[in-house]
Amino acid sequence: MNIILLGPPGAGKGTQAKRLEERYGLVQLATGDMLRAERASGSDLGKKVQAIMDAGRLVSDDIMIDLIASRIGKAGKGFILDGFPRTVPQAEALDAMLAQKGLKLDRVIEISVDEAALIDRLAGRFTCVKCGASYHDINNRPKHEGVCDVCGSKEFLRRADDKPEAVKTRFEAYRAQTAPILPYYRDKGILTQVDGMADIDHVTRQISGVMDKIRG
Ligand code: ADP
Ligand code: ADP
Ligand code: ZN
Repeated sequence: MNIILLGPPGAGKGTQAKRLEERYGLVQLATGDMLRAERASGSDLGKKVQAIMDAGRLVSDDIMIDLIASRIGKAGKGFILDGFPRTVPQAEALDAMLAQKGLKLDRVIEISVDEAALIDRLAGRFTCVKCGASYHDINNRPKHEGVCDVCGSKEFLRRADDKPEAVKTRFEAYRAQTAPILPYYRDKGILTQVDGMADIDHVTRQISGVMDKIRG
């Protein structure tokens, strides 16, 4: 099963992808995490994207398409794309890539949210340095204070682009460049919307409902 989670910054894509990965044996392909790993490794690519990411702007389509092409279709039971595609050209490139590999997209799940609530979600977000699991100061604390639920790491970080200035730019990028993907998938008849304002468990139940139907 191959799915895309789509939604603005803070919608809950990463949180849900991590849960679905486990439940359905899928692999999360999170382009933001891949880029942050490039930066942490000090690679040329990492250096190139640093300033763009911190400002909250989108990295060029060429770079992103190359990055995803080297990883897609390697996973056993399928993938959950989180953070890709973010532009119509990326969506088109993905279609071409999948066709070439004989793979298909089962569903695009839009996590629909009220933008005003996202400022608080992002301001309170912290993530595990080791596995990328996402937590929140109020909504979603680790079960054991200071220890990642998923991998047991004790190191967390707050993202530079979760500061209000960059958040504003990221929302603008979502509206201008990413939202136009929605009609692209709606026209193909594979878009489903879930209510992302519900609590985390309830969002997982909605998405699982969609996925169980696909799995049959
Ligand atoms: P995205 O990957 O879409 O940017 P995240 O999954 O990192 O979003 O979630 C952003 C922040 O909001 C995190 O701090 C996360 O713990 C919190 N969060 C995620 N889903 C919900 C939800 N349904 N209700 C409240 N807070 C949430
Ligand atoms: P969020 O979880 O808040 O939605 P991500 O972690 O997915 O954010 O992405 C962080 C940043 O990485 C983006 O603001 C952008 O600079 C870059 N990025 C990630 N994926 C893409 C993509 N598909 N196209 C362009 N830029 C991307
Ligand atoms: Zn972790």
